[in-house]
Parts: sequence; structure tokens; C-alpha cells
Amino acid sequence: MKILIINCGSSSLKYQIIDMTNENTLCKGLVERIGIEGSRLIHKVEGQENYVIETPMKDHKDAIKHVFDALLDEKHGVIKSLDEISGIGHRVLHGGPDMTESILVDQRVKDTIKEFVKFGPLHNPGNLMGIEACEEIAPGKPNVAVFDTSFHQTMPDYVYMYPIPYEYYEKYSIRKYGFHGTSHKYISHRAPEVIGKPKEELNIVSCHLGNGSSLAAIACGKCFDTSMGLTPLEGLMMGTRCGNIDPTVDSFLQQNENLSAAELNTLLNKKSGALGVSGVSSDFRDLEEAAAEGNDRARLALDMFVIRVKRFLGAYIAELKGCDAVVFTGGIGENSATMRADICKDLEHIGIKIDPERNNVRGKEALISSDDSKIKVYVIPTDEEVMIARDTMEIITK
Ligand code: ADP
Repeated sequence: MKILIINCGSSSLKYQIIDMTNENTLCKGLVERIGIEGSRLIHKVEGQENYVIETPMKDHKDAIKHVFDALLDEKHGVIKSLDEISGIGHRVLHGGPDMTESILVDQRVKDTIKEFVKFGPLHNPGNLMGIEACEEIAPGKPNVAVFDTSFHQTMPDYVYMYPIPYEYYEKYSIRKYGFHGTSHKYISHRAPEVIGKPKEELNIVSCHLGNGSSLAAIACGKCFDTSMGLTPLEGLMMGTRCGNIDPTVDSFLQQNENLSAAELNTLLNKKSGALGVSGVSSDFRDLEEAAAEGNDRARLALDMFVIRVKRFLGAYIAELKGCDAVVFTGGIGENSATMRADICKDLEHIGIKIDPERNNVRGKEALISSDDSKIKVYVIPTDEEVMIARDTMEIITK
């Protein structure tokens, strides 16, 4: 069985075909600059040169047409006919409170994606366009929506509610939803396999640290708490996002810098975080390099990131009433031994002790804690695409 995975951004689209007999990726690709001058599609098949299509693509439907053309291309394609694709899994950012699992797309699902454009204005419209384009171009093919928010919908109300007047929860559904759910779900499945115990017997803190970062406290396979909120802005400091700050900063800046709500939103989402503090970059490789060369603000940004991860890690171990394993994933979590070492430094008193030799790994599964560490610490590369493909397969074969 072959599953097509589509991840639509506002002006870009990533795709992948996974053969579910062995979970191998047959091809992957990227369409950039949809609706902007310079649209192009880059199609990658392992062992072959990239196939690039440069042609105007005015919308997501246009882009998906070209994706299907590339998939079916005589020379570069990986399928002979669309019949070979059993289903299409779509990554969707925000599913609100009702989308507690991945789901076969119908009108209600599309209405929900539309409703939650209010909290995912940059992603949900593109996600929906991707689904509608597939419905038009490949009619009858089952489309499955896989939400970044679903995995977290097991949080209890006292965890997800915000302490503001209750009427705004009732009126607008303002509450914590959490994101990176597909990644945390993958970790919630994979970590127990690596540890060799059923997930029902394990409490895990999953640390997804990348451009966007979030932690999830996972109790017996279910999310109990997570650091992102109504939107992916809450929680940790990130590449360009501020994470938790006193909400008064918002209104103060709005008044004193004369910013519109939209400008303030851009400031906190795109110009803050590690980039805003360092003035160097949002990329942690650049920051580590700059800090090593003596750039104080790059050092400050890294120190601020580390203390925030520690803060949530400690909080989540407390919320879980103890924890068996901490897992690092995402670009930073998988690759940066120094960030992992700094985050875990001086945590022996709560049972975390890193082995520097074992921690010297990049991008592969590894136990990095020492034998006498009460809490095991792992690196597990995330695989959101496989998770989307598995959910899609499960739903279309039900
Ligand atoms: P996204 O959230 O966009 O999926 P990723 O999970 O790919 O992002 O993470 C990107 C981040 O990972 C960047 O900040 C990048 O610098 C960081 N990263 C990747 N490799 C390394 C490395 N070797 N050392 C430090 N940081 C790294």
C-alpha cells in the first residue's frame, strides 16, 4: 500500500510517498513560491538527480497538479497510475477541541479546519486548499486529516484552561491546544519500543526542539500537558518566537511603539526568540558558532533557551509525578550535543545524568544517559511523515 503525504504551507507544499509494506520513502518533494513569481517544484528520488519543474503555479491546486505530474513522470516518477495511491494524508495545523484523532475528511472536517483558521491563520487556509485540490484532481481518493493538535486533546481541563474569564472559552474556544502533536505521538510510540516496555507503563517527557520547540508530558502514552498553547507561540523561546512572556508586554509595545495587532503578531512570531535576542540568527548552528567566537548576545540567547527548556522539563517531571525517560528530538534535539548537555547539566538531583561519550551522537537513536541515571535520556529522531502515513493507512483500511 502506498500513501501520499501532503503538508501545505501558505506558499509552499511538501510531499512524500511512503510504501507501507516497509515504511520506505519512495520519493519526496517540495513546491516553493506558490502564487508568487518563481514557483518551482523539486522532486527527489533517492539515487537519482533532482527533477526540477520551474513554471508559474498560481495556487495550491496548480501545485498539486504538478506534484501528480512529477509522481507519474515517465522518467522521474515513482508510480504508473494514481490507482497505486491508496490514500492521501494531510498535515493540518489546528483541529480545535473536537478533532481528537486523525480522521477521514468530510464536510464537517473541512468546516472545522475553516473554523480554526482563527487560531491558525498562516496554516489552516493552505491545509484546506491542499485537501480541496486533491478532492478535485483525484476524485474518490480518500483524504485523511492529521492534526498537530490531536495528540494533546487528552489534557485534563485544569491543564488546558487559561485563567481568564470563562465566557471567552465559551464564546471563542480560547484554551491551550498544543502543537507538534504528530511528532510527540511518534515519540510516544517509538520510545516504549526503544525502552522495551509497554507505553502504558511509562511516563515520558518528549522534547521537540527545532525551529519551533515544545515539550510534552506523556503519561502512559497519553498527553497530560504540553508547552504550546492556543497557538504555537506559547511555551519555550524558539528560533523567532518569544514563547511565554508577561502578556502586558503586548499591550505596552502596542501602545508605545504604535503597533497594529498584526504588526505585534509578526514581532512576537517572526522577530523575537533567539533571533530577536541575538540579532544574529534564528538558526542554532549559527548561534553556537557565534557564541564560540565570543558573541555575547548569541550566548545570551542560547542560555535563555536552555533555562526555559529546564523550566518545563522540571515542571513536567513534577506534573507526571516522576518520569521514566526524557527524549530529545527535532533539529536541535537530534543534532546538538551541546544543547542537550547544557539542558541536562546539574539535574542529577532529579535523577538525570548524561554520559558525555554517549551524548556525542547526531541524528540517530541512542541512549545518552549514564547507567546510574534514574531517568533514562534518549535521542530519537522524529518521523512525522511515517506517523501521518500510519494514521492514514489505519483509517482507510478500517
Ligand atoms: P523545523 O521546526 O522547521 O522542522 P528542525 O526540527 O529541522 O526545524 O530544526 C531546525 C533547527 O535545528 C535549526 O535551529 C538548526 O540550527 C538546528 N540544528 C540542526 N542541526 C544542528 C546541529 N548540528 N547543531 C545545532 N543545531 C542544529
